[in-house]
Amino acid sequence: MKPTHSLQPSSPRLREHWEALCSRIGERRAGSAGELASAEYIAGQWRKAGLANVHTEPFPCVTVVSSRAEIRVGDDRKFQSLPARVLAGSPSTPNDAVVEGELAWVEMPEQAERMFTPALKGKIVVLVGPTPTRADLHQRLVKARPAAVIHVDDRLPFEWVKDDGVYPTWVQRYGMPPTVAVPFRLAWEFRKQGATRARVRIVVKLRQGESQNVVAEVPGRHAELPLVLLGAHHDTQCHNIGADDNASGVVALLELASLLAGTKPLRTIRLVSFGAEEQLSVGSARYVVAHRRELRSVGVVLNLDSVASVLGHHWLIRGGTAAFGGWLREALARRSLETVEKPAPMPFADHFPFSVFGVPAVTFYRPNMDSGMRWQHHGVHDNLDNVSVPELARVVQAVGGVALDLAQANRWPFPRGLDPSQRTETMRLARDLFDLKA
Ligand SMILES: [Zn+2]
Repeated sequence: MKPTHSLQPSSPRLREHWEALCSRIGERRAGSAGELASAEYIAGQWRKAGLANVHTEPFPCVTVVSSRAEIRVGDDRKFQSLPARVLAGSPSTPNDAVVEGELAWVEMPEQAERMFTPALKGKIVVLVGPTPTRADLHQRLVKARPAAVIHVDDRLPFEWVKDDGVYPTWVQRYGMPPTVAVPFRLAWEFRKQGATRARVRIVVKLRQGESQNVVAEVPGRHAELPLVLLGAHHDTQCHNIGADDNASGVVALLELASLLAGTKPLRTIRLVSFGAEEQLSVGSARYVVAHRRELRSVGVVLNLDSVASVLGHHWLIRGGTAAFGGWLREALARRSLETVEKPAPMPFADHFPFSVFGVPAVTFYRPNMDSGMRWQHHGVHDNLDNVSVPELARVVQAVGGVALDLAQANRWPFPRGLDPSQRTETMRLARDLFDLKA
């Protein structure tokens, strides 16, 4: 298939949408007024662009009203206060009071098997590395009953606080110890100083809230043919405005709406902005469950999440066959977007729930580093100074062009279904993390 359509994104319009989402609205945590305001902005812009069938599909979610972590580390004589964040999913410390305990260092994941034992009871466990990624280890940590857990994110040696969370399904099923996250460089310092004890206080207020997926369409002339779904998520983690994660993806969808409206393609192009992604793809999982019987009508999902880093690499995180990935990479390269393909099943983005049901689905992602990390991830640096308008324009042009080529295709160019090498792990993750069964 030769590229036939060249879309010309407008830089002033990209900037305007970015300003609206990040400066005027700001933080957009799931279930908050900010998230709702962003959903309304998106629906309003899509109506203005002339898209059809613009509507919102609300769903219940847990909303963090407020979360505060206080942590002091030291030895018997002297304690020093550190900045920290509550890890989403964590309960408050008992009676919202301070707990104090001896530190127990566990280097993850290699020491977890041996060290998650009753000997941790009442201690304050410092996890250096990821929180448990296997349900059985998470359960063992909960059963060991530490007084609290301090999580040290080792993906990058940063010095500022970041917000993250633990899988909501695990918290519901197995519980979770009171957990805070501290910056790597500060943990480095207190380890060096020989800290032996910590005092931790966590106060979390939650309420039952509502999130929403926003949907719109560029109607195709043949509505019975499998459609092209373009996705992004409009929510953020707590305490940041998410200029890259993921206002960048939403701004792309808003611009694509302007560029694609009125193109009258053969197949329908559907745009979906998901809510509550930061709680682990909650909105997209909700969407596939609610539309399960119509998923055969979705031919492909092209999801955009954190795509506008100033420096970095363009990744294509693929749920689907190698033939699908190969076709897409080629088509993007012809539109001057070279990408790195990542075929390992990855549940932390909105393409994943679709791939569980055999829909060829990718997430476009732009990490800074080959390791996949972004230094501005989930923190105060994810602001409008650290996103690139030209880079986003490049993504919009390539992804929009490929989406339009697919929407004009008489013959669909790749098969449905997962790659055989992805099947077992995808189904395990779907079951373990989402309670989804294909
Ligand atoms: Zn994201």
